[in-house]
Amino acid sequence: MSTTLNPLANPRGAKKLCELCQKPAYLQCNNCRVTFYCDTEHQQADWVGIHDKVCQLLIPIRSAVPFHSLQSDRDLHQSQTRHRQEQLIEISRSVAQNKLFEGKFQESLPASLLSLRCAMDVYGPSAASLVPAYLLLAEANVGLGSLAQAEKYLSQAEWTVTKTPDCSQAVRRQLHRNLGRLYTSTGNLKGALLSFANDVYYASDEYGLDNIVTKGGYFLMANVFMKQEKKDIAHSMYAEVAKTWHSHLTRLVEAHTQSSISLEPCFDEAQRTEADQMLKTMLEVQAQNNKQDVAQIALVTHSLAMLWFLGGSRNKAVEFGRKARQASQLVPDPSLTESIQRLLLLAGPDPHPTQAS
Ligand SMILES: [Zn+2]
Ligand SMILES: [Zn+2]
Repeated sequence: MSTTLNPLANPRGAKKLCELCQKPAYLQCNNCRVTFYCDTEHQQADWVGIHDKVCQLLIPIRSAVPFHSLQSDRDLHQSQTRHRQEQLIEISRSVAQNKLFEGKFQESLPASLLSLRCAMDVYGPSAASLVPAYLLLAEANVGLGSLAQAEKYLSQAEWTVTKTPDCSQAVRRQLHRNLGRLYTSTGNLKGALLSFANDVYYASDEYGLDNIVTKGGYFLMANVFMKQEKKDIAHSMYAEVAKTWHSHLTRLVEAHTQSSISLEPCFDEAQRTEADQMLKTMLEVQAQNNKQDVAQIALVTHSLAMLWFLGGSRNKAVEFGRKARQASQLVPDPSLTESIQRLLLLAGPDPHPTQAS
């Protein structure tokens, strides 16, 4: 995968820097030949983190500009390069986001760094378009416990947002969510609650109160209330989160069974991972609760069953569906039991199993 660079073969004046740490590079990627590393460790980390997915895409972006005598050819080349760079920013951002949702903080860094550097090339060093990459880097560093580093990225993001009055609500919301996560980690729970409340404010302005994005902020606030031992507030907020997710997933399952069209576009892997973790946390909270709330357990396990059904995992859908049915019979809630029963029939053993399933 790698070869040692012959320094004499480098064009004079062109300094090769490591893709990850920006130190002088001695290795090059053998596939694209336009990406360089200081050592095999950084090459391996970059390959796993992002390079595997963008190696070929980098060739036309990073290769020397071919000579065009016509202005129209130069313009065409420039617009093609810009389009490829924007693609690269998007791909690396979504790869980083997915890794964060999976809790792979270290592995998310190469993709976030690539997204940031490429956005700097395209939009300049102080553009609002850089903020999403700063936020990814901050989130990864919070996850890794590198709080000083996270704070550095967040203040850069905050500074950029302050300087950009027309900055989108979505970016402001994400900034506050990340500030909240940082404050949670540093033990500044008051600051965390204030930041998550801002997150909820911007989200409800954009999506309304009864929305899964807005309830993401509720969930994080509830986690903080749990840390503060304010369990009653926490439980009532978790209940709100569960209710919204339950009706959202119910609508999706209904749409799915009525039209049998693929749900891929409105439910990607990253959202599924986030939802899965949120619902499982709420289930754990119930397991540790002295006075278990069976209705909440029924809603959450039914939501997990629907989530896995939509994700194509019949076994898990059935597993959670059975738990949900058991809980709903204890409430008792006949209409919920009926809805769970329908899902179990849908997700139940395939009467015509094929090799693929
Ligand atoms: Zn390096
Ligand atoms: Zn490569």
